[in-house]
Amino acid sequence: MKPTLGHLRFPVSHARGRRYPELLHPYRNEFQRDRDRIVHARAFRRLEDKTQVFPPGISDHFRNRLTHTIEVSQIARTAAAVLDLDEDFTEALALAHDLGHPPFGHAGEQELNRQMRKYGDRFDHNLHALRIVETFEQRYARFPGLNLTFEVREGMAKHSRDFKAGQFPMLDEYLPGQKPPVEAQLIDPADEIAYNTADLDDGYTARLFSVDDVCAAVPEFAEVWNKMEFQFPGAPEKVRFSEAVRGLIDTLVSGLIEGTSQSARQAGLETVGDVRHHSSRVARLTPPAEATNAALKSFLQRKVYQSGVVLRERQASAGMITALFEAFMKDPEKLPEPYVDQATEDSVHRVVCDYIAGMTDGFLRRTYDQMI
Ligand code: MG
Repeated sequence: MKPTLGHLRFPVSHARGRRYPELLHPYRNEFQRDRDRIVHARAFRRLEDKTQVFPPGISDHFRNRLTHTIEVSQIARTAAAVLDLDEDFTEALALAHDLGHPPFGHAGEQELNRQMRKYGDRFDHNLHALRIVETFEQRYARFPGLNLTFEVREGMAKHSRDFKAGQFPMLDEYLPGQKPPVEAQLIDPADEIAYNTADLDDGYTARLFSVDDVCAAVPEFAEVWNKMEFQFPGAPEKVRFSEAVRGLIDTLVSGLIEGTSQSARQAGLETVGDVRHHSSRVARLTPPAEATNAALKSFLQRKVYQSGVVLRERQASAGMITALFEAFMKDPEKLPEPYVDQATEDSVHRVVCDYIAGMTDGFLRRTYDQMI
């Protein structure tokens, strides 16, 4: 049976439109325009100098947040295309999915959140991404932000969670209680597949584990590895490893396509409205692919995320963020001018948080060196 879900494709002609109405473009549809606006945003270019997992300096070949984003986009688009969903919509969301990430990966996110909690507030990268595309990007004369379609903003708000009315008052306009279209649901699992397999690849390059370690922890990997050994006995280990990672990506992406198709069919969904009102999301991996994904995740947790090199870097970067946050709180006049103005409208801690969250790793290091 073909896995197509064309009947659940979100029709671009049904998009609810932009906050500030604009004329249609002669040959690009609304989701294609959103995708292009995201690619041209400054926040998108800054992803190049934001840590994914591994700090720069050890190797020039590790993923950063920009190359990770491109991998997510390629995986999500493949799935959308096979399922006969809207590829442009999916691509726009994939390219936007990490725009709100602060410098230094998850360490940066946790530390900013810890600082905000002291003021009874919080930092959430999905909400920050929305503020970027709604307000901080200033490149169009007619409106603030990128003026993206409702559906793309909704998909960003619901990247990895659904919410009820009132749970996040600032998100109440984004159909609380409803699931996003399948195109938007694909991003979160595509993100997981991309980073799990990439972190495996980068972790191997960083020599954090051996091939035997992965084979013992992830049976599906062992199976692909054995095939590679049989097919290419003369190839260097690192080439066979790349081939095995490639096979693993294929298995997981196929699992996502099949799992999503199956669960939408089992649930009897016939329209986009059914997707929205269904009790759970339908984009998911098949149970065997999910088991592989889970095994991989726990392996990476032990061998990569808890490794000395990654932990040391996390500590150092959290320390820099703390020091800068405290320095700006003590002396908000040191913020650049537009932020000082903003601090008269918003709370100072929010403005400091926005400023730091927008920094690249490199800019944060330079600011730290100047100020501290
Ligand atoms: Mg991501």
